[in-house]
Amino acid sequence: MPQGSVGGIDITGNCPNLSSTGDQGEDGVSHIARVALPIPVDEPFDYRIPEELQRDVQPGTPVLVPFGPTRRYGWVVEITDHSPHSRLRSIEGIVADGAVIDEELLELLRWTADYYLCGIGEVIESAMPKPVRQRKLRTIRWVRPSDQGIASLASAEPEAVGKPAALRRNILQHLHLHGHPMPVRRLVAECSASNSPVQTLQRHGLVEIFDALPPEFGIPGDSRANQTPWENPAPFEPNPQQIDAIDRIHRSVEENNYQTFLLHGITGSGKTEVYIRAVQKVLQLGRGALVLLPEIALTPQAVERFSERLGPVAVLHSMLPSSERAAHYERLRRGEVRIALGARSAVFAPIPDLGLIVVDECHESSYKQENSPRYHARDVAVMRAHKLNVPCVLGSATPTMESLENVRRGRFERIRLDERANGRPLATIEIIDRRKETRSAGGGGMLSRPLVDRIRDTLDRKEQVILFLNRRGFARNLLCPQCGHGFRCDQCDIPLTYHKSKARSQCNYCGEHKPIPSSCPGCQFTGIQQRSPGTERIEEALLTLFPGVEIDRLDRDTVTSAGRMESILRRFRDGKTQILIGTQMVAKGHDIPGVTLVGVLDADIALALPDFRSAERTAQLLCQVAGRAGRGDRPGRVVLQTRQPEHYALSCAAVQDLDQLLEQEDSVRRMLKYPPHGHLARLLCEDEDEQRARESAQALLEPMKKLQLAEVQILGPAPAPLERLRGRYRQHILLKCVERMPLREVARAAVQQKPRWSSTRVTLDIDPQNLL
Ligand code: ADP
Ligand code: ZN
Repeated sequence: MPQGSVGGIDITGNCPNLSSTGDQGEDGVSHIARVALPIPVDEPFDYRIPEELQRDVQPGTPVLVPFGPTRRYGWVVEITDHSPHSRLRSIEGIVADGAVIDEELLELLRWTADYYLCGIGEVIESAMPKPVRQRKLRTIRWVRPSDQGIASLASAEPEAVGKPAALRRNILQHLHLHGHPMPVRRLVAECSASNSPVQTLQRHGLVEIFDALPPEFGIPGDSRANQTPWENPAPFEPNPQQIDAIDRIHRSVEENNYQTFLLHGITGSGKTEVYIRAVQKVLQLGRGALVLLPEIALTPQAVERFSERLGPVAVLHSMLPSSERAAHYERLRRGEVRIALGARSAVFAPIPDLGLIVVDECHESSYKQENSPRYHARDVAVMRAHKLNVPCVLGSATPTMESLENVRRGRFERIRLDERANGRPLATIEIIDRRKETRSAGGGGMLSRPLVDRIRDTLDRKEQVILFLNRRGFARNLLCPQCGHGFRCDQCDIPLTYHKSKARSQCNYCGEHKPIPSSCPGCQFTGIQQRSPGTERIEEALLTLFPGVEIDRLDRDTVTSAGRMESILRRFRDGKTQILIGTQMVAKGHDIPGVTLVGVLDADIALALPDFRSAERTAQLLCQVAGRAGRGDRPGRVVLQTRQPEHYALSCAAVQDLDQLLEQEDSVRRMLKYPPHGHLARLLCEDEDEQRARESAQALLEPMKKLQLAEVQILGPAPAPLERLRGRYRQHILLKCVERMPLREVARAAVQQKPRWSSTRVTLDIDPQNLL
């Protein structure tokens, strides 16, 4: 409970749970507002509503309130006529241009705060962008053909035109066929040209270049821009599986029923087309739609894919400048735009009469917010749809076991798309056993000869290569390099990690530790621990192996901004680079037709992460990477290098079938009560002082044990797999339970306890995705 200071702010005055002294009497005001402030406390604060504001202050109204010696921005979450506190201070005023929260959204925010055991003020803060006044919006360059340009196309093609003239004519033609103005950036990309021919066209008076808002605000000069719905025809007819999917979702939209569909479609099966047609249906009924994409998939191309077919969309993205973000919100709230396209926090977008929610790539762990409030946007989306009684579509090629289990229990309805939309076959998968391929061609043993041969063949055919190396091997895994034997905790079934300083292996869930065996129990090999070279080293080796070949690297070291990532990808898409090597950034979503070979350099790294989901995550990741190969006309091939070729995560990925994985994992998860057969919560104690972190974690046990809820298993405290992060030592406690309620009760008891040391930061994560 709030006492003293929270986040450096002194709480005085009308703080609930702090009894005031002196004035005992009721102050006779019947209008009291409970106001949520964006600070990490669980309860809203009570304020008196002054006479002149009583008509206008409603639940959801943004207000300014006095808070200690300062004033703060907050939202009214409830109007009541009594307060346990006397001497309430008054609301100072309504924020004139602030964001009003409607009843539906407020209810969702309340649910989120309650479910994730955090303050509603925090939830509101992360749901709403900073309410800034609308400033001048960013514009981009557009181009359209002039009358003279169109006329010139009709005239016969002049003889003996040089190459540049032919290119210009192509560009003009392309623009004309497009039918309406186009961003210059896009025209240039689609015609594989530079800016200069477009500028020449402008000089000749054949095109006009002008500045206007980006395409998500509508096509400039298009009379349809401000009326929804409007539709552009699809460039193709949906295939029978897509039609079936669309029909089933349409029916649910028409009947106005809650139903969650798991659109389980392999990579390239055309899920986006299904979303687009589902959204069109909703628009025809005059309602709004919400489409969530993972942050990294929310590129300008992705936005255009939707806005081109559906008209203006509001883009909600934390990377947008706040003025722009506020403008998008405002247009949505006013109903000027009925479609919101956004990342995680857009699940709270204010959309009047919301009729459909889509969550693309719903397996992505980036939907889970990793700081407070630690909500999972997929789960909030399902809840929002449920409360609204509208359908929710979760799309993925690699659904999580939780989603598959929800299908099995009949909570979700699965729709399958098991063919590629363009009829291309999936890539063939070849597994290379690194135990046998000991003669490496370079890269510290990471580039096997067969892989290097495949790379050479691919380059010879003028095709492109993606190499994937998930380098997050920080928690040195214990794995025999010779036979692939992995060492696991008997109780938790997660890989043991190697702690160099202590020369022992440890389970990061229960804390159990063991000496490191001097030799492998499987094959007697004596060099157990190993380290894996990173992407940079591989890049070097490739440069030596393939002199003259253009190679780019995509990882956290080379991607210093969103623009940098775009430019590396654009170079690759344009064929300027032949080989792209990278971490999981290369694995997701890219649709590059020239890529026919994908090499996974070390499939074992992800498998050895100390997380009970490591096999599942590995299978998902490998399916996703494999989906990058052979998307164009030519067939694709995937090469997986591993020391555990018989591991089921690899065989499931090889046939791209996660249902097989479910069968494999189900019994272990059931036995150990891991999700989807149990619920988890994680308590994390972080402190610069190691001893204090440990003592704080230890102290949390007492209030939990006092409750005597035996069905809740308390594991730890144990050092978190990332034992030290940003100068803080980390200890964690895992709570496991088949039922959700007792788990919550125990977790709540722990966080309500004052930490043993005030320097320790304690966080609670309900349904944690990240256990590192
Ligand atoms: P997914 O999201 O399922 O991986 P996409 O939606 O990106 O797949 O579709 C893959 C490609 O197939 C895209 O280029 C898309 O335009 C194309 N496509 C989708 N549906 C069809 C169809 N019915 N006929 C032809 N091409 C299609
Ligand atoms: Zn253990």
